[in-house]
Formats: sequence, C-alpha cells, structure tokens
Amino acid sequence: MTWKRALLIYPYSPAKKSEQLYGGLAIINPIGLEVVAARLKPAVEALMLVDMRLENEPLEAVIRRFRPDLIGVSLNWGRDAYVDALIHGLPKDVTLVIGGLYATREAEDVLGEFPEMDILALGYGEDSLRELVERGSPEGVAGLWFRRQSGAYPPGPARDGLPTMGGPLARNPLRQTVDVSHFHLDRSVRRYDYPWLTLKGDNIITSVGCPMVCAFCKWRENIFGEVQPWAAREPEDVVAELAETDAAVVHIVDANFAHDLKRVERICDLIIERDVRHLYACEIRVNALAKDARLVRKMEQAGFFMFMVGVESYQPRLLKAMRKGFTVRMCRQAFRNLAHTSILTLGNFLIGNPGETEAEMLGVADFAAGLGLDFISPNKIYAYENTDFEQWVLAQPGYRVEGRRRYVVSDRFGVEDLRRIQARIMLRFLRKHPPWIPYRKALAHPMVLKLGRERLRRAMLHSLWNHVADPNFRRRALRKLAKRFGRTGKAAS
Ligand code: SF4
Repeated sequence: MTWKRALLIYPYSPAKKSEQLYGGLAIINPIGLEVVAARLKPAVEALMLVDMRLENEPLEAVIRRFRPDLIGVSLNWGRDAYVDALIHGLPKDVTLVIGGLYATREAEDVLGEFPEMDILALGYGEDSLRELVERGSPEGVAGLWFRRQSGAYPPGPARDGLPTMGGPLARNPLRQTVDVSHFHLDRSVRRYDYPWLTLKGDNIITSVGCPMVCAFCKWRENIFGEVQPWAAREPEDVVAELAETDAAVVHIVDANFAHDLKRVERICDLIIERDVRHLYACEIRVNALAKDARLVRKMEQAGFFMFMVGVESYQPRLLKAMRKGFTVRMCRQAFRNLAHTSILTLGNFLIGNPGETEAEMLGVADFAAGLGLDFISPNKIYAYENTDFEQWVLAQPGYRVEGRRRYVVSDRFGVEDLRRIQARIMLRFLRKHPPWIPYRKALAHPMVLKLGRERLRRAMLHSLWNHVADPNFRRRALRKLAKRFGRTGKAAS
C-alpha cells in the first residue's frame, strides 16, 4: 500500500511582489515543483499541481474534489502570513511533505512552525519523492526527514497506533547530487497559462551551476547554498522539450546557459533543423558573445530574441574587483558581434562600488548607449555576508553594508542617493537610446517575422496600455518619480 493521489502546491499569493516580474508582465511557472511533478506522475494514479498565484478555485474546493492522500508544498521564497495560513489550513489526515529552497536552508524554522508536517524534503526533492512513493515509506529515503507519526506513512493499517502529530524526528542522510536529465517538464500537469507580455510564456532549465567566480554572486550556488559545478542537459533533450511547448516566448532560466558554446550551437542547429518556433530569452555572459560572431547570428536565426547581459561596469578596476572574468575590450567586441542582429539586449550594471564617483556612475548611460544596448538596469551593488567581496568592501575607508538587501553604502552615497542616481542614469540613457529603437528592432527579428509581426506588435502595445491604464501602476510610478527626482532638483538648484 502506498500513496496514490498527489497534490502539489505552489503556495505564494498573487499579491506577493517578488512573484511579479517586470511589473507583472511575466509570471514564471514553478519549475522546481514541475520537475517534482514530472518525476512523480508515473508513480501515482493521479497528480495535480496548484499554483496559488493563478488558481481561481478555493483551495478547499480543489482538495475536496481531488481527494489527495499526499500533499507536497514547495517553500522556496520564505514564509509569510498567507503561506503559513495556507499550510495550517491543510487537512490533517493527509500526508504533508514540505520541500524547496527555503525548507532546505531553514529546516529548523519549518520544523518549528509546522508541527503538522509529516515529512521534510531537503535538497532537490524529485528523486526523494519518487522513491518515497515507490517504497511506500520514508524510512531510509535519502533527502527526507520525517516524524514518526501516522501521516508519514500511507493510509492503511501501518498507521495504526502512531501519534497524529509531534512524533520523534528521523533524519535520513541528505541527497547531495542532482540529475539534470530529470529537468524535462511534463506540461500535461499544467493547468494555467503563464503570461509574457500578453503572449503565452514558458520557462525551461537546461543546466545548473556556473563555473565563473563573480564576487557578488550567489546564483551559482545549489539548493544547499554550496557552489554547484556546471552540469547540462543533452541538446537533443532540450530541443525535444522546446518542441513540446506551444508558448510564443520561452525563457531559459539557467545561471549560465552558454558556458559550453558547442552545446549552444548544437541546440541552435536542432531548433533550425526541426523548425521549432519560439522567441527565446536568456541570461548570457559577455565572454560567450565576444567569442564567435557567427554563433551569435545563428542564435538569432534559431529565435534568440533577448539577451540579459551582466555588463556590471565599464571601469577595468571595478570589473577586476568584481572578478567578472572579462575586459572592457571584450565587452565592446561582444556588442559588435550583436550589432548585425535584431536580438534585443538588456544590460545589468552595478553602481555604488567602492571609489566610484557620481560622474562615473552617470557614465554608465553613455557607455551603455555606445555599446548599443536596448535596455539597461542599473542596480545598487550588494555584498553577501562572509564573502571575500564583503571583506574587500568593508576594508575601503567610509564604506559599509546596509539593510536586508546588504547594499554597499558609504559616507558619501546612502541608499537614497544611489536611488536618485539610478533614476538619472535611466533618463540619460533613454535620451540617447529612446524606446522606439528596440521596438523597431524587435519587429525586424527573423523569428518575429515567422511568428507574425502583427501579433508581437499588438502584444507590446497591449502590455503598455495595460500598464498605463492600471491606476495602481500610475500611482506607484508617480510616487517613485517624486521620490527620485524631488531632492535631486533641490540639490541642483
Ligand atoms: S557568470 Fe553569472 S551566474 Fe556565473 S558567477 Fe558570474 S554572475 Fe554568477
């Protein structure tokens, strides 16, 4: 006897700000939970995945109708009142498993807050849950801690005589490894459309980890907070998955998709050969773009539509301090390679570095426009605790790290000063590179022409209109503008 009906819940509220990308223009499908679903589905009789950000039916009604005997909740981005109430409100006679990034890193907090939780899945949970269901018991399943209480076992006589809550905790060893071949999602479990502008979007993961050593970065870490060696799926498997989605826009969420350029080329060749039609967006490094102009053009032909590039700075000493692994010269080469394509580019910059003057920060706008970037995102630099970068920042006279986000501030530039400089960089950039330049470029992209120029044009204009027509957006935008430019105006006068 084992579990037969699994309900997986992504428990975050539609109102949670961090769940709305680009001001609500895009919502990312819960990839980790979808990986678990794909792995679990063949081992159970029925499986349902509920995403609370998009679910219209009350959760109680879903549970009444579906009658699960196993509920899995993915806690990735911390707890809040909504999440806590949702978990506490789940039926007590159904096995409750909690997993995800937060549950792994803050296991004691989760164990303390949810005495009704039967099993805690630590690390990447897909193999642990599959094994749990196949064995019909959490005993000896790597990656699972469980309470010796009735809910930790499937419905049946084996539960008799066990406490219903608060049983002693059994800790199986952790499951440290991750098998990337299990990242191929099964979209038949999906009950929602995930938006990108007003088009249908999708997200896929083709590799984990990153071999680079950027000083400020935690993205290369695995779920346990340790450096994750780069591991990638086979190109054939990636393209087979791409062929399965009917979304217009596919976001590749890897930390370093293009680490292996031969793999990128093979993926492009297969996409072109099979005529798989999507617009792709991904983060990509300067090094990858600088290497091979021919490959950049092939990526355009395959449908790569938007690159998010971590440029970070245009000053050699800061690139070095951030351990970016490229030079300003390589950066210019990368954008020369892009210049003959219609691929849109968003450049991420970090400002407020030790020793950086206001004029140097404002110079980001000129450098970005000179490169031909279409959009920029100037962000305040931050330093994570107990890193070499934090030590370096703290060793600079007058510099310190402040707040929950660990921004680098100084006697000269506080968080508010940096916010106003960010706004000025944006304005200066927009004057040099107005939004109709990327608009025209996007409409000339070869994959846009294949998918229908008019369709993308309407999506862009509708999204803009939805934003402008939304009173909350207008109120927020005005408040931000007043805050960012109010005091700058006074300072200038
Ligand atoms: S390349 Fe990107 S993911 Fe890799 S270490 Fe640098 S910032 Fe992090």
